[in-house]
Amino acid sequence: MPPGNPAHVFGATAGRAATADIDANLLRIEDEYRVHEYAQRSANPDEILIAQPTRTARITVLAQHAINHFDAYGREKLADRGTGALVELVAPRADILGIISTGRLRGPEHQRQRHSAMVARAIADGRPSIDLHGMSCDGVSAVDIGTGREPSAASRLIADAAIECGDRLGLPVTRNRRFGARGPERLTNVLLDHGVPAIQAELCSCLRQPHSGPAETALVVAWFDSLTSTISRALAG
Ligand SMILES: [Zn+2]
Repeated sequence: MPPGNPAHVFGATAGRAATADIDANLLRIEDEYRVHEYAQRSANPDEILIAQPTRTARITVLAQHAINHFDAYGREKLADRGTGALVELVAPRADILGIISTGRLRGPEHQRQRHSAMVARAIADGRPSIDLHGMSCDGVSAVDIGTGREPSAASRLIADAAIECGDRLGLPVTRNRRFGARGPERLTNVLLDHGVPAIQAELCSCLRQPHSGPAETALVVAWFDSLTSTISRALAG
């Protein structure tokens, strides 16, 4: 992070679970995106990578901006770096079904088809879903949760869990502070419209490559771990 820009400094809690092997694993996956300049993952990627949990999935996490993409005006946008690799990393660890956009996008229409296919998979699966994005750091929110236009009772529980798990780990998680996911085309709203409890989560650049290190990786992995368990418990009760 260049000096003068905001950056989060996480407390000792972050370092507690830090292990070099988790971070090395993340960097190995991240390299698959990095060496292809985030235009695609690996040399011959599938359009969509399904990252499988070891056991039955408890939640679904989507990463539609893991690669370079297009904004609402059809302009090219750079990938939300690190989001694809993070989902790949946490899926087997935390029993998450990961749905990641990994094949090169030819244009806005191709992107619409891709996103529809990702949403269709999440709807078919029907599990509580998180639409993962990346945001720049403003020194306040490490994660900003967007609850969408019409949150459901179940999706409110997911947002509450995200904040509560952040509090336990010393990770500042806010709600609708910077990105409320209000646009009708946001995946969160499409999922909510189909009865799937969903939130959007914007991860600060401090928690993603190239600004993160082993402590930050451990922190975000711990947050997903704790979130998955808390959501399962909350929705079961
Ligand atoms: Zn930050």
